[in-house]
Amino acid sequence: MLQQKYSILIQKIPDLKSQEFLSNHCTFRIGGPADLFWNCSDINLLPEFLKITKNLEIPYFIFGGGSNILFDSNGFRGLVIKITDSNFEFINSSAPFLKASAGARMALLAKESFSKKLTGLEWANGLPGTLGGAIYGNAGCHDCEIADLIENVTLYDFEKGIFEVKKDYFDFKYRDSKLKKTKEIVLKATLKLKNTNTDLKKSKEAVNFRAEKQPWGFTTGSFFKNPEGDSAGRLIDSVGLKGYQIGEAKISEKHANFFMNLGHATSDDILKLRALAKEKVMANFGIELEDEIIIVNS
Ligand SMILES: Cc1cc2nc3c(=O)[nH]c(=O)nc-3n(C[C@H](O)[C@H](O)[C@H](O)COP(=O)(O)OP(=O)(O)OC[C@H]3O[C@@H](n4cnc5c(N)ncnc54)[C@H](O)[C@@H]3O)c2cc1C
Repeated sequence: MLQQKYSILIQKIPDLKSQEFLSNHCTFRIGGPADLFWNCSDINLLPEFLKITKNLEIPYFIFGGGSNILFDSNGFRGLVIKITDSNFEFINSSAPFLKASAGARMALLAKESFSKKLTGLEWANGLPGTLGGAIYGNAGCHDCEIADLIENVTLYDFEKGIFEVKKDYFDFKYRDSKLKKTKEIVLKATLKLKNTNTDLKKSKEAVNFRAEKQPWGFTTGSFFKNPEGDSAGRLIDSVGLKGYQIGEAKISEKHANFFMNLGHATSDDILKLRALAKEKVMANFGIELEDEIIIVNS
């Protein structure tokens, strides 16, 4: 049944790939083949193609940089869409604005804004992932977050169509936005920067902090959100799981909230580590660890 629908979709969407390994598209390097895979390099095509996919009742999943995702080792039955449209432009009006497509890389946007001597994105120097992913999860660090910079965002929803919203719309909280519930899709966004000269010290510190405190390798960054007033890394370390390994999945020795794929870890290995960390932290501290990463089932 799905195969018949796939044949129709393949005729309607150009450049669809079959059996593309998702491990090639995420920082965890875990993920089996997607039945269908589309590299969306023109964001303007997305609403129309999504409508076709939905009308055919084909399951779909949309992502950007794949730096906050655990794909299933069994892959995905349906269409996986990777947004790679990375167009951006600086607009100088009352304030300097940076308008970009959802697939624009945060680290590149930061670098480009530094070259124009603008302030605002210093914290995002070296941040993996795209603008769309950053808005979805309200990415941030060093007491800054993407929410601070949002001027307006163009979203897509099947019922509402394409519409523009302001920052208030998102109910931004720590690593959270309304999009996690509504599943609306970020097409484009405009960030408001400042003309006050890039704080190069701050941007350098952001990169140095990553190099010093975070492990290098196949990971998604912080696995769990930090519980209020505490840190997930400290809690996992306290229950003796720093360095703990299941299969080829390991809790980093350097930072216990970083789960690592040593090379051939499966999604099951990672999920077992996750269950163990949650269970031990709950048993010892009565704290429920909440995922920061997004788990995508097959
Ligand atoms: C080494 C490392 C360090 C990291 N450090 C930080 C850090 O300091 N701070 C931080 O906040 N995060 C950090 N992360 C996590 C990650 O980089 C961020 O969460 C990032 O914003 C995710 O963006 P992405 O494009 O990779 O999203 P993806 O992983 O591709 O997707 C994540 C979620 O966003 C959704 N999504 C993606 N694009 C869109 C869109 N256009 N519209 C709607 N939904 C969308 C997806 O459906 C998915 O649910 C780190 C990750 C790594 C690997």
